[in-house]
Amino acid sequence: MSLEPRRIQVLLPLPLSGPFDYLADRSTPLTAGDFVTVPLGSRILQGVVWNMSPGKNEVAADKLKPIAGKLDLPPLPASLMTFIDWVASYTLSPLGAVLKMAVSVPRVFDRAKKKTFYRLVSDLPDKLTEGRRAVATLDVPKDIPMALKTWAELAAVGEGVVRGMVKAGQMIAVEVMGDEPYPEPDANHPGPELSPEQQKAARHMQEMVLAHNFKPVLLEGITGSGKTEVYFEAIAEALKAEGGQILVLVPEIALTAQWLARFETRFGSAPVVWHSELTPASRRRSWWAVVNGSARVIVGARSALFLPFQDLKLIVVDEEHSGTFKQEDGVMYHGRDMAVVRAMQANCPVILASATPSLETILNAEAGKYDWLYLGERHGTAELPDMTAIDLRNHKLSTGTWLSEPLREALAKNLECGEQSLLYLNRRGYAPLTLCRTCGHRMECPHCSAWLVEHRKGERLTCHHCGFSCGKPNVCPECDNKDTMVACGPGVERVAEEVSELFPEARIAVMASDEISSPAQMRQVIDSIERHEVDFIIGTQIVTKGYHFPMLTLVGVVDADLGLGGGDPRAAERTWQQLEQVAGRAGRAERPGQVFFQTYSPGHPVMRALISGDGQEFLEQEAQARELQKLPPFGKLAAIIISGSDYNGVTKTARRISALAPKDKRITVLGPVPAPMSYLRGKHRFRLLVKAEKPVKLQKTMGQWLSSCALERGVYIQVDIDPYSFF
Ligand code: ADP
Ligand code: ZN
Repeated sequence: MSLEPRRIQVLLPLPLSGPFDYLADRSTPLTAGDFVTVPLGSRILQGVVWNMSPGKNEVAADKLKPIAGKLDLPPLPASLMTFIDWVASYTLSPLGAVLKMAVSVPRVFDRAKKKTFYRLVSDLPDKLTEGRRAVATLDVPKDIPMALKTWAELAAVGEGVVRGMVKAGQMIAVEVMGDEPYPEPDANHPGPELSPEQQKAARHMQEMVLAHNFKPVLLEGITGSGKTEVYFEAIAEALKAEGGQILVLVPEIALTAQWLARFETRFGSAPVVWHSELTPASRRRSWWAVVNGSARVIVGARSALFLPFQDLKLIVVDEEHSGTFKQEDGVMYHGRDMAVVRAMQANCPVILASATPSLETILNAEAGKYDWLYLGERHGTAELPDMTAIDLRNHKLSTGTWLSEPLREALAKNLECGEQSLLYLNRRGYAPLTLCRTCGHRMECPHCSAWLVEHRKGERLTCHHCGFSCGKPNVCPECDNKDTMVACGPGVERVAEEVSELFPEARIAVMASDEISSPAQMRQVIDSIERHEVDFIIGTQIVTKGYHFPMLTLVGVVDADLGLGGGDPRAAERTWQQLEQVAGRAGRAERPGQVFFQTYSPGHPVMRALISGDGQEFLEQEAQARELQKLPPFGKLAAIIISGSDYNGVTKTARRISALAPKDKRITVLGPVPAPMSYLRGKHRFRLLVKAEKPVKLQKTMGQWLSSCALERGVYIQVDIDPYSFF
């Protein structure tokens, strides 16, 4: 008896709002989550079976096309599909665009090739050459086959030694499908002895892991208090269970060489790593290890949330306050918030660790929604550094210099003592602005409303928004005068220049994302700082990320006011977090640390909080201010960005959206106004800000509102729920 083919829904990884209906032969075994190929127009595309029994039949069955085939891949776990649905509806993003983040793994669909691995035979002869003995006595699980190269690397012998053992019948070849499994981190590898305070926090989190329930916990601890060591104990607890997976989110995976080394010391082997800079081959290997459950600990950037975990037991978000968890293009989501959702769906604990927790998280902890653990002592004899503001109104800078007299003196003294100093300025390049001394013309990007930043390498002016770059002109493009173009303001390169003029013998390292382009290069710089081959580090915010340099005892913040301006409601909070973090790099070992903040407004609440060390009071004031204005987390906020290359189309669409705004007293719509970056990568941009009271169902309201607004041709709208940047 032949059965009618059945109707199923397939979601494609394209910016589409939902799945399409297709027909599937009943003889093909299919489940939701299966990867299939389907025809779309004249193309054959890969997609995922989203629904095996759709309710509504909007398209008549005789209009439907059959699926083209089924891929031989494990289905996406139901928990990931639920998460994708949730993220799409929360961020008001097309469902297919969210799916794309989960499945756009280049070459993941390639069948892993058959490979030959080797394992030791059980009856090895007693007498072996030294090299062969090194291989035979390796401390690895006995029956797991490994590649020739891996054996040689682990035993520190040449591959010839291993090949010789194969020839002599001391190792046997095993054909395997797929990639070599990752070694499993060892929960019982000895860790450091914890202080009573650390122990208490560790025990609390271990109990949460054992309880296996959803519960967020804020692990707050001053810089250097051992937060990492403490949450490692929670990871160890989770590893002790049979199976199950642990996800650790870190702000910038490419920059966490030190973190990986610490993990390896603690657990005897490295975790599985996930970020956008992996080669396609390693991505495929990681993806498969996650989907088949063999990867126990995965450390990654926010995109790791979209991996096909089979059984999450614990999520850790390190430096939970970090702005890098917010994705600012495509699907705009906050990795920390989504991690909490993922943990809730997986019914497991989630640890949010930070020395400077976000206001949102603090308020959740205060309200009792999150558990709250606090570490108030630095490890060992280390103490928090001494904080001083340098009032630049009293200590005037001479033209073209950026370091005040007191800071210069402190740097000189520190150099004399043979200790390391860090100068922090969150500005890449040499100078943020180039202008003509005669006519005042400013060098701007032709594609963006932004100044071009001078970089010394190749004497170039570069746009940090679109990448446009050109040579530095000798002649002013406006008034044709020669040699009148001057650099204004400092970037890290210019501060480095000043330091090398002040201390010609000193060894200087500049740390900025354009100086250091690969994790390997980062490793090199960190190694040379650790080996004390550097006296002065001059860096942007990439140096604030959790580094631990025992000889670093002085931190100078070149411009503590930078970042306080602008219309961003989180500007003060973010500046406080960044400066507190960078200050926390000083004096982390036996030697006490000193921090100087150069500022024109020492009375600003942020500066007062830093100097007094009382972040609590500052955060309370911030919370009050936000409550008054009904800003998050006391109200809801969303941004709508309208962009396009045709100016009239953009303004017309923006006005239409504004005119159709919901008539609800609880909702305030501000704008449209030209965005601060009113022209970006050749597109004009307008913004609207939507403020709503908490009970408003913002996503539903905005979804209906925006779908009623027709867009002009070539105009795009982007919705940013809980915006973190306002450019
Ligand atoms: P945080 O993440 O809170 O800034 P870390 O976990 O980086 O602190 O700890 C700071 C330094 O102190 C690290 O070098 C860490 O290895 C060390 N440390 C912390 N706790 C201990 C401990 N109980 N025993 C030995 N070393 C520790
Ligand atoms: Zn540009």
